[in-house]
Amino acid sequence: MGIKRLVLMGPPGAGKGTQAANLAQGLGVAHISTGDILREAVKTSTPLGIKAESYLKKGLLVPDELVVELVVSVLENQEGFLLDGFPRNIAQAEILEEQLKQANDGVEMAISLEVEDDAIVKRLSGRRVCSKCGASYHVEYKKPSKEGVCDVCGGELYQREDDKEETILNRLDVYKQQTMPLVDFYRKRGVLVGIDGEGSVEEVTKRLSEAVS
Ligand code: ADP
Ligand code: AMP
Repeated sequence: MGIKRLVLMGPPGAGKGTQAANLAQGLGVAHISTGDILREAVKTSTPLGIKAESYLKKGLLVPDELVVELVVSVLENQEGFLLDGFPRNIAQAEILEEQLKQANDGVEMAISLEVEDDAIVKRLSGRRVCSKCGASYHVEYKKPSKEGVCDVCGGELYQREDDKEETILNRLDVYKQQTMPLVDFYRKRGVLVGIDGEGSVEEVTKRLSEAVS
């Protein structure tokens, strides 16, 4: 039996979204991106979206109680999962651990995708996202076949509001202060796997599939 409960970590722009859908599909688990869920909630102005909007805009973490409630409900009845963008701090990781303990099923692998700051800024400032399905593109590194149109679903591509330079630097700061301590958290639990996230999309995909096989 393959690995069924995974966490995918890494700075914003590390390539988590780009890699997660395929990786999850290959493992037969659900891809759960808290960023995607929150952006959809903002777009459709749900009560969660209305509360979360200003945090996303500034590149700050949405308060734990909002995100935790969301993740707990999504994980319910989910046998396997690849969490992308959660947990984002130690408090969230501890709540996840507690939640999974009740089911006797802890995180089996926490993958940390490692990418240097200068590459992150280049990736995020050129990122374009599908407004329908959330697929990620890049103006230079991952162009769609037809400019401005998603290859997967034909949706319109847009630039995320938090992919402006000033917000990018803010998000990198938030990552270093609040999310990076999770690398040690999962290392201590013996489930951490560090993966080099630099190089082409295909190279990173290959490293990831080797790590989980
Ligand atoms: P994350 O989900 O970690 O924030 P994304 O998967 O959205 O990051 O990737 C950020 C940007 O970098 C996107 O524009 C994506 O097309 C691009 N990208 C992803 N992986 C690579 C790679 N290996 N090389 C170059 N660009 C990449
Ligand atoms: P992402 O799509 O993962 O880059 O996340 C985009 C934004 O959503 C972040 O900058 C946060 O504002 C918010 N967000 C996503 N996941 C979380 C989380 N686990 N905890 C708090 N905020 C989050």
